[in-house]
Amino acid sequence: MISVEEALEKILSYVEVLEPERKPILDCLGQVLAEDVYSDIDIPPLDNSAMDGYALRAKDTRGASESSPRHLVVVGEVAAGSMPTKEVRPGTAIRIMTGAPLPEGADAVVRFEDTDEVNRKSSGGDLSQIGILCQVKKGLNVRSRGEDIAKGDLILKKRKVLRPQEIGVLASLGLSTALVIRRPVVAVLATGDELIGIDQPLAPGKIHDSNNYAIAAEVSRYGGIPKILGIGRDSVQSLTEKIDEGLDADMLITSGGVSKGDYDIVKDVLAEHGEVGFWTVCMKPGKPLAFGVMKKVEGRRKGKVPHLGLPGNPVSSMITFEQFARPAILKMMGKKILAKPAIRAIIEDDVVNTDGRRLFARVSVTRRGGQYHASVTGPQGSGILTSMARANGLAVIPESSKGVKAGDMVEVQMLDWGEEQGEVKTLPIVSIVGKSQSGKTVLMEQLIAEFKRKGYKVAALKHGRGRMEIDHPGKDSWRYAQAGSDAVLVSSPGKLAFIKSLDHELNIEEIMPIVGPEFDLVLVEGFRKSKTPKIEVHRKELGDDLLCSPEELSAIVTDGSLDTDIPQLPWGDAVIVADFIEKNFLRAVS
Ligand code: AMP
Ligand code: MG
Repeated sequence: MISVEEALEKILSYVEVLEPERKPILDCLGQVLAEDVYSDIDIPPLDNSAMDGYALRAKDTRGASESSPRHLVVVGEVAAGSMPTKEVRPGTAIRIMTGAPLPEGADAVVRFEDTDEVNRKSSGGDLSQIGILCQVKKGLNVRSRGEDIAKGDLILKKRKVLRPQEIGVLASLGLSTALVIRRPVVAVLATGDELIGIDQPLAPGKIHDSNNYAIAAEVSRYGGIPKILGIGRDSVQSLTEKIDEGLDADMLITSGGVSKGDYDIVKDVLAEHGEVGFWTVCMKPGKPLAFGVMKKVEGRRKGKVPHLGLPGNPVSSMITFEQFARPAILKMMGKKILAKPAIRAIIEDDVVNTDGRRLFARVSVTRRGGQYHASVTGPQGSGILTSMARANGLAVIPESSKGVKAGDMVEVQMLDWGEEQGEVKTLPIVSIVGKSQSGKTVLMEQLIAEFKRKGYKVAALKHGRGRMEIDHPGKDSWRYAQAGSDAVLVSSPGKLAFIKSLDHELNIEEIMPIVGPEFDLVLVEGFRKSKTPKIEVHRKELGDDLLCSPEELSAIVTDGSLDTDIPQLPWGDAVIVADFIEKNFLRAVS
């Protein structure tokens, strides 16, 4: 038996990045750019107006206000798409529309709302003059030439995956085509005497072929071009004929016929056509997997087509596709990120793993209270395709694990998330709560030290009421705040402090983006109303009651013994508490 990683490594070693092709930009979505793109124009090409208003000289507005407008002579008008015919001289203005080039002499635009134009119009006044109601600085509402893109700049780098915004940038440069890595053609073949086409009525003993469709749709989803070869029968002749039709593809994917059944002849046919390996991969579902290369004849040149033989069970074929065919297609397309984004989620059902293989459980993931929760999507038989249809993730239970219990943390591959999102892991947050004098701060100190000892990067957050250190009277930062600054930052080598005035108190989820993503764990003292996992510190002498209701708590640290089902950890032993946090919130199951 080989591991999932070994199988993937071997498969990837047989596929190459395909050659580039030049084609219309709109056909390039999701493909990898194969050239550096430079601009030979400035964008915008000219200084232009960002507002509808009046182009003028900022100097001419000096001292202007609503009560004492500055009056300028309107010498013309310019709309987007045309060029100004007049110049703005001192004491004059030109009416201008958004996107229109800034007339010679003008250095700012005052929007209509800051002029008396509306009043003049409604009172039938003289429109050959305009009153400016505020003083403006040079450059106001002016978009300067080349501010987005300057001529000669490197705009898009080779290997960039083209998204709608990059397609837009290419268009703005006036490029109608791009050079991108070609999409792979993937031939798809179902095998089995029991299969009939989806346009045929069912007959006794027969089932509709669903694999061809699920697999072809997967190929398209990841950017390949599927070529459905149809259904191969369980005979050497039928399979040979079908496979021959697929030899001009970049990859061949078959489903079925790889297990030990009597009619499993795919391997015989393949062995005749090329080199083929039959593997038992340490995963469930999807143990039997065939992989090899088929000889193909291209004109007179002999080539090779990688072939992946997926198991026939519909769920197994999809899950093995995800683990092996998907990364192979992405590699051929020139993509750098091949791994499916994974998150850590709280599993809501027990899952047993009996035979020491890596188990991929179909789960439905939801986000609640700042945490991901994964629930198993019903019966998990490898023929039950609706368990896949209900799922948006695959919970990965390692081969070394006997399974997980509801409430454990698991790693989940997110089926509908794009690889480009990278690995999105939620930052584990644990709050230490408890009555005053219960020993929260001491436990925080000990936990921080213990996690540092274990090599974690820790952030600690306290729910406070009073002043903060940089907030003390007399400090420079305090004086800035007194002077009215809404935020005060103090930066020194190796440290940053930040105090911001707020009109309401932030919750933990709002604070985290400010903290930054680089931490392994956030330990919080207080914030007992938050939805993040909480551990309550309890001391007998302060009473038997708890601050939080038991269902909100992940554990209780106590010097007594309480009548509850929640795990109780000994007060005064931070090592045990740290191990509990590590096992439940930091590590995928082991
Ligand atoms: P096999 O790997 O050929 O032994 O097939 C395993 C199971 O998957 C059998 O129950 C097949 O009927 C089923 N199966 C195989 N191919 C398909 C397919 N294309 N569509 C739906 N079910 C299939
Ligand atoms: Mg079969």
